[in-house]
Amino acid sequence: YAQMNVGSSLVVKGGKNKIDYENGNFQWEGSLAKKRIEVFKIREFRFCQRGVCNANMDGRDIVVVMPTGGGKSLTYQLPAILSSGVTLVISPLISLITDQIMHLRNANIEAVKMTGSTSKSDQDAIHAKLINMAAGRESEETEIKLLYCTPEKIAKSKRFTSLLQKVRDGGKLVRIVVDEAHCVSQIGHDFRPDYAKLHVLRQLFPEVPIMALSATCPPVVLKDLLKVLLLKPTVRGTAADLTGTVYFTSPLYRPNLHYKVLPKAAEGSKVYAEMTAWILANHKDASGIVYCLSKKDTEKVAEELSKRGGIRTGVYHSDRPDGEKEKLHKDWQKGVVKVVCATIGWYPFRSSPIWAFGLGIDKGDVRFVIHHSISKSLDGFYQESGRAGRDGNDSDCILYYRPQDASTLSAMVLSDKDGATKLHAMLSFVQNIQECRKIQFANYFSHSSNLSITSWSTSGVSATQRCGHCDNCTRPADSFERKDVTVEAWQLLKIMQSVHQNVTLAKVADLARSTGKGTFLVAGSGGDIENVLVDLLLRRYLKEQLFSTAYSNVSYIKLGERAPLLTRFPDKDSLANISSNLRIWCSFRVKLKTLKKAKTLKAGLSPEVLSASASSTLVAVPSTS
Ligand code: ADP
Ligand code: MG
Ligand code: ZN
Repeated sequence: YAQMNVGSSLVVKGGKNKIDYENGNFQWEGSLAKKRIEVFKIREFRFCQRGVCNANMDGRDIVVVMPTGGGKSLTYQLPAILSSGVTLVISPLISLITDQIMHLRNANIEAVKMTGSTSKSDQDAIHAKLINMAAGRESEETEIKLLYCTPEKIAKSKRFTSLLQKVRDGGKLVRIVVDEAHCVSQIGHDFRPDYAKLHVLRQLFPEVPIMALSATCPPVVLKDLLKVLLLKPTVRGTAADLTGTVYFTSPLYRPNLHYKVLPKAAEGSKVYAEMTAWILANHKDASGIVYCLSKKDTEKVAEELSKRGGIRTGVYHSDRPDGEKEKLHKDWQKGVVKVVCATIGWYPFRSSPIWAFGLGIDKGDVRFVIHHSISKSLDGFYQESGRAGRDGNDSDCILYYRPQDASTLSAMVLSDKDGATKLHAMLSFVQNIQECRKIQFANYFSHSSNLSITSWSTSGVSATQRCGHCDNCTRPADSFERKDVTVEAWQLLKIMQSVHQNVTLAKVADLARSTGKGTFLVAGSGGDIENVLVDLLLRRYLKEQLFSTAYSNVSYIKLGERAPLLTRFPDKDSLANISSNLRIWCSFRVKLKTLKKAKTLKAGLSPEVLSASASSTLVAVPSTS
């Protein structure tokens, strides 16, 4: 059956009668790509989306397990709009359905819902339209493409199921999608009795392919799911035949990518020198991408790399004329240009006309991706860095981080929906110099679902097992130090309490440095106070506040909701008996060096703070060892 559908474009993997949906070429891929960009504004598939869409177009039963936020919806919505007829989607919550419908209708896709709360007149209108479709009286352009319903409708409404039968009889029921499919299993924690009745779908519509989606599907639940939904036998691993259920999990962990976060020097010239040296030492003459925050940065970095290292660079950002962008793509693909300096993309893409460089480009031999500064979100970083090593060969993903960049990014994203939350995830990632990068990604991508990540890895590597080759896995134990900075945090918050003007993170750090007798100063980089500040931000002792003028956005730092937990202590000494769960610990990259002499005190601070900080060194921690 599948073979008939794919015809000559069928790709057989290893002669095992197995269709390679991930890498094969299929006749519909051009249209998939076109609609993906035009309708969904998504430039590039991620995780296993491409494979799932192909299997979907090929009419297979499918199980997809992808983390929440991974993009499961696209894998049925995109094929749905390319098909003639309606895709039925069963979803457990009306709020989820409403949200989906809103997005689809915004994209001009004919999507409707049938739930317990759909009005009689709406139901009648949908009814009439589906009957028209079944009778072939509806033109393809005006057809309902997606019909959402709750499981109760299937389990309890005879009227609805007989309507679906008519649609099917008219050849217009393309596919059935069961979202949050783990709800069918009594073993899972989300069991819903109406889901257990969904076996009627296969019984009523034996020839219509079924797709089950979930963010969590341990093997026992998967077994249940196949049984309850009566999906066709055969899953991944058993030399899949051409008709059985195709099972996809997102290969989040790519063992050939080596992640490393490097401290970024304060002086631009030093950053360029280090970056050039790194490229020449590790990937001379190889292809790479350097992602930068601003257009100005892309130009500067490109110039410096070529000046200092003779590296053939190109510049890519939204102000470059289309013709030049195209030429650069080609030159890069051919290897005439080796390193492209590009602006980071915008996520999500839905409303943005600005595409990041590398999106949708098929270039396997990208040996390194360097981030000249952090991305706006961890999703973004994962995606951008993931352009390295598509050919499976060893590649490096390097990120240069200095906490001061947090302010700049914050000013850029704070007005976006969930902008701060997304940025904070990125910041936690770079601030964390102990946990394996792979585990951090895994936790992040499965976090919002709060569910197990058993099915996260496809390569037989447990999700909780360290990768063994990222910077944090290979960091020598004595190159970082964990310090109790409760007192220092308290002092920083006291400073915040006493300044009555708007201050940026950098300003607070400056105040702190000049107030105390010593500093956190670490050889070559003055970022330790900033590090503590970012940690306090992530732990909600501080928060950001956006101030916009006609000319610029500035992100100021304010006391956060948890600040009183520390500021209620009147003086430094009273912190001695603070309970251990209120103590604040931070990791620092290198051993703290002996401290600089105090500078003169800055004006503008209250006597309280001055005496508080004068009675101790502000963030002074003498070197151990
Ligand atoms: P889930 O897997 O949790 O159902 P969704 O389908 O709701 O995830 O997608 C989450 C978000 O990711 C949406 O905003 C969607 O537009 C976006 N998205 C999906 N696929 C991609 C992609 N390939 N590139 C960028 N964003 C994507
Ligand atoms: Mg979803
Ligand atoms: Zn690791």
